[in-house]
Amino acid sequence: MSDTAKTPHPRLGEPFLLTPGPLTTSYEVKQAMLRDWGSWDDEFRAMTVDLRKRLLALTGDSKGLLDCVPIQGSGTFAVEAMLGTFVPKDGHVLVLANGAYGKRGAETVTRIGRGLTLIDKGDYMPPRGDEVAAALAADPSITHVLAIHCETSSGILNPVQEIADATHAAGRILLIDSMSAFGAVELNYDDVKYLAMVSSANKCIEGVPGFGFVIARKTALEAAKGNCHSLSLDMYEQWATMNKTGQWRFTPPTHVVAAFLVALKAHEAEGGVTGRGARYTKNRDVMVAGMRELGFETLLQDRWLSPIIVTFFCPADDKFDFSQFYDLMKAKGFIIYPGKLTIVDSFRIGCIGQMDEHIMRRVVAAAKETLADMGVASAAPPEIALIERAKLAA
Ligand SMILES: *Cc1c(COP(=O)(O)O)cnc(C)c1O
Repeated sequence: MSDTAKTPHPRLGEPFLLTPGPLTTSYEVKQAMLRDWGSWDDEFRAMTVDLRKRLLALTGDSKGLLDCVPIQGSGTFAVEAMLGTFVPKDGHVLVLANGAYGKRGAETVTRIGRGLTLIDKGDYMPPRGDEVAAALAADPSITHVLAIHCETSSGILNPVQEIADATHAAGRILLIDSMSAFGAVELNYDDVKYLAMVSSANKCIEGVPGFGFVIARKTALEAAKGNCHSLSLDMYEQWATMNKTGQWRFTPPTHVVAAFLVALKAHEAEGGVTGRGARYTKNRDVMVAGMRELGFETLLQDRWLSPIIVTFFCPADDKFDFSQFYDLMKAKGFIIYPGKLTIVDSFRIGCIGQMDEHIMRRVVAAAKETLADMGVASAAPPEIALIERAKLAA
């Protein structure tokens, strides 16, 4: 064991992950995995109960209408489990896509044989309430709407309240992929009435990867028996078994659960969703201001920036090369993320994980040094990037 591993908050010399999960976790979270648990044992069963209760406490559900069901696998497994469990076999889902995760949701709906209508807004334009209302009015066979809360591929915070209002006004059912937002961005059940939403262990709660969780109306869980196309992704069965025996239906990721409980306690100690959201917002503000000072431009106007991850245009300067920029940033201790825009080159910097504004200042300093190392005189993007950006008004 190295010396640093004995100190309370070491970074273990690892680079910071400025990525949207897996992300940089605390030493305490990692340490919680240094013990083995029996999945049927009372102690582990109590941990599952605690985990479900703590997650429910973050929903703002004042009437106790919701329940929380964890499910093994990465976040995508939980999305597929939600769609397969709550959309009946003859259901029809309107998927609101503006990036990779929306498209993945649409692909899932098709793959599990449910009806699909897709509103695809391209790389980042937000789906708006009036478009949702129009699509629902045009096709009475649509039963459900799937919205992406924070579309992590551009970092845009989609207007879920507006989408929820349009969905309810049309008498349809809302499902939310809040994977990268839950725990840091307010999603109050008393305001945004969803049938179910999903998130996972390795995003804003700052656990390690290994499971996701669905938060759903109890009445919807009760009604979902027999819907699911999949044995292992059936949230009704997982819920019913968990309530009856206290166990997960199949081998749970015990170490990941233990780590997640430590992460949940730290989340609470930080002030819950408000406290966590405030730190991430500060991270973003400090980082974005610093990057703009270097000449970088964000894809999105401030109104649409999430406190989760930010897309920057690559500089127009010939000397700029993303893979070199990535390697040099990594050598300075920071792992950044490539961009996902189809029209112009971009990269992303995440604001979530065990990092604060001091770390974000170091990120900006590293970017400044890296530009100098590469001989890049200006971080300004090509003109086409700014033309593209102008399509989305503030
Ligand atoms: C991370 C993420 C997912 C799930 O991705 P996995 O790689 O399966 O964990 C789904 N939706 C959004 C918006 C995400 O950010």
